[in-house]
Amino acid sequence: IAKERGGGCFTCYRQEMNLADESSFLLENDLRDALNKGQLTLHYQPQIDAVSGKISSVEALCRWEHPLLGMVAPDRFIPIAEASGLIVPIGDWVLETACKQAKVWLDEGKHIHRIAVNVSAYQFNKHDFLNNVKRVLRETKLPPKHLEIELTESIIMSDAEENIGKLLKLKRLGIELAVDDFGTGYSSLAYLKQLPISTLKIDRSFISNIGDDTTEGAIVSAILTLAQKLKLNVVAEGVETSEQFDFLRKNQCGLIQGFLFSPARPKEEIQQFIGKQFKNDWDTCINKNGNK
Ligand code: C2E
Ligand code: MG
Ligand code: MG
Ligand code: MG
Repeated sequence: IAKERGGGCFTCYRQEMNLADESSFLLENDLRDALNKGQLTLHYQPQIDAVSGKISSVEALCRWEHPLLGMVAPDRFIPIAEASGLIVPIGDWVLETACKQAKVWLDEGKHIHRIAVNVSAYQFNKHDFLNNVKRVLRETKLPPKHLEIELTESIIMSDAEENIGKLLKLKRLGIELAVDDFGTGYSSLAYLKQLPISTLKIDRSFISNIGDDTTEGAIVSAILTLAQKLKLNVVAEGVETSEQFDFLRKNQCGLIQGFLFSPARPKEEIQQFIGKQFKNDWDTCINKNGNK
C-alpha cells in the first residue's frame, strides 16, 4: 500500500497496520461473547454426487452474525479464533451442532452419507481432541461413519510422521477423514498412501481454471487418477460453471461442491433438498443466480 502511494509514506503504512491490529483486537473481544450470545450459526453446503445428481454429503461452515458489522467471513474470524485459543470452545460447538443436526436429519429419514466438519490446527493439536470427538459422538448418538473431519493438507503434513498415529486413533472411532485444500500444500505422495484418509478435496484454485488444455486441468485429472488408484473419494471444491462440472464428470470426479449447485445455506433451506435430484430441482435456482 505504501508503495502505491509513492515514497515517504511509511507512516501511512504503519498506521494502517495498527488499524488492522486494532480491529483484530476489537473483533477478538466481540468473538469472546459471540458463542454465548448466539451469534454463531452453521450453514451447510451440499456435495453433489456427480452421477446421481443427489446431495451425498454436506459441509458445515461457520457463520458469525456480528451485531454491528453484519456477517463476518470465517476467513476473517477463524484466524483470530485460532490465535486467541477461542477456536477450542468454538470448534467444540461447531462439532456438536453439526453432529446433532446430522442425527436429526438421519432420524427424519433424510439420508446423508456424511457431515463434514472443519478442524483447525490448534484444535487438532490439543491433547484432548480425540476425547472430545468421542464425547460428541456419544452425546449426539450420531453413528460415527456419518462424520467426516476435514483437516488441511498443511496441518497433516506439518508433522506427518507423528500425525499418522493421531489420525489412526481418530479413524478407529469409525469416522472418516478428509484432506481439505488438497494441492495447496506439499503432500508427500508416499505419506498419502499411509494416511488413513478417505477423501481428497481438490482446492478451489485448481478448479477455477480447469479445461482440456490448461495446466490445472492436467493436475486435476492426475489427482483424479491417483485417487482412483488409492480408492479415495474426491470432492471438487468451488465448482461454479457447467464447463467445470462437465470436465470433472468426464474425468470421473465423484463429488461436486460449489456455487453451481448451491452456496452454504441455513439448515432450513438445505434440508428440503436432501435426497432429491439436485440437478432438476435446482435448475431454476441455478438460472436465477445466473451461474449457468
Ligand atoms: P474450506 O473448508 O475450504 O471451505 C470452502 C469455502 O469455499 C467456503 O468458504 C465456501 O463457502 C467456499 N466456496 C464453496 N463453493 C464455492 C464456489 O463455488 N466459489 C467460491 N468463490 N467459493 C466457494 P467459507 O464458508 O467462507 O469458509 C472459508 C474457510 O473458513 C473454510 O474453507 C475453512 O477453512 C474455514 N472455516 C469455515 N467454517 C469453519 C469452522 O467451523 N471451523 C474451522 N476450523 N474453520 C472453518
Ligand atoms: Mg473445508
Ligand atoms: Mg477447502
Ligand atoms: Mg479453505
